[in-house]
Amino acid sequence: MIPYGKQEISQQDIDAVVSVLKSDFLTQGPQVPLFERAIKQLVNAEFAVAVNSATSALHIACLALGVGKGDVVWTTPITFVASANCALYCGADIDFVDIDEVSYNLCSDKLEQKLLEATAHNLPLPKVVIPVHLCGQSCDMQKIYDLSKSYGFSIIEDASHAIGGKYKEVAVGSCKYSDITVFSFHPVKIVTTAEGGAATTNNASLASKMDLLRSHGVTRDPELMNQAGEGAWYYQQIELGYNYRMTEMQAALGVSQMSRIEDFVARRNQLANRYDEQLQNLPLVLPKQIPDSYSGRHLYVIKLKLDEIEASHTEVFDALRSNGIGVNLHYIPVHTQPYYQKLGFIKGAYPQAEAYYEQAISIPLYHHMSFEDQNLVIKVLQEVVI
Ligand SMILES: *Cc1c(COP(=O)(O)O)cnc(C)c1O
Repeated sequence: MIPYGKQEISQQDIDAVVSVLKSDFLTQGPQVPLFERAIKQLVNAEFAVAVNSATSALHIACLALGVGKGDVVWTTPITFVASANCALYCGADIDFVDIDEVSYNLCSDKLEQKLLEATAHNLPLPKVVIPVHLCGQSCDMQKIYDLSKSYGFSIIEDASHAIGGKYKEVAVGSCKYSDITVFSFHPVKIVTTAEGGAATTNNASLASKMDLLRSHGVTRDPELMNQAGEGAWYYQQIELGYNYRMTEMQAALGVSQMSRIEDFVARRNQLANRYDEQLQNLPLVLPKQIPDSYSGRHLYVIKLKLDEIEASHTEVFDALRSNGIGVNLHYIPVHTQPYYQKLGFIKGAYPQAEAYYEQAISIPLYHHMSFEDQNLVIKVLQEVVI
């Protein structure tokens, strides 16, 4: 089976992890700060906080921005459930903004409409909006940022798909248009640390809050304590934090992988452009790139033109899988999940997201995919999409 996504582990990656295993520190040593430095340098942000997953990063990002009971967070229904769950972890409510028909990202016009309606009807405005850069392509951050200034909300970019990408010539993660950006280093993502995530920001107090929250809310910094230390052993718990720390092995893998990120993303774009050329005559909607974005190209999503195809969405999906093409579907609209249905969300509420779900299929794309394997994907698609 050709998978839809897959990590590549080089000898250099293996050596980096092994040398950590032979060193004094398996956690809380020098590798995590080195990994954070590599992220900061890549995205040109002032601070980076590495954690054990993007889900943890989203959670502490929400907490650092003060999300709590009585607040509401808005995100897109076409994302992994973690982008919405983070609000619920904080005791806040979640709501969704439907997607843009072309980019499949949270639609900035619909966001504006929803903000206007909320204002007109005296409904709560969002404390935080979480745009998700689906497939690696940036959302319309300029407009979302402008709206955040008019309506007073904060922004967390969920860039789990987008490391190595750019928006208006600025690296995704620079936080030029947001308060915090979150990355994932799960093995199917662009760069991996097995499990892992990070948050970037240019705000020192958000960075120090997230730093505390990832490690029990405990500090050894005398400046943060409410009284003088009682001895060399002394530490204080000043927040209710978690253990969301990244290990040294993970960080070493991350440092090693980050040294190749530009090649990873360039190669993903090359493969995506090849799909664009070779699939253009099939009854498919191919992913459109907005001019301001250089996509990290985490995923290549095709949409079936179902009125021009005899087979159904499910039939095409199953035929691809049974022919060795490991397709997937990103994503089931979050509001249609049973857990969210119980919270009161109803099917039909976000028609663009639901229409997208009826047609979308993610086909294999990873930087070390051979042209030969890609040709096979193309050939099977030509046979199956008829
Ligand atoms: C993968 C993913 C996450 C969660 O990442 P983990 O590192 O697995 O916690 C969150 N949001 C999006 C959009 C993702 O793709």
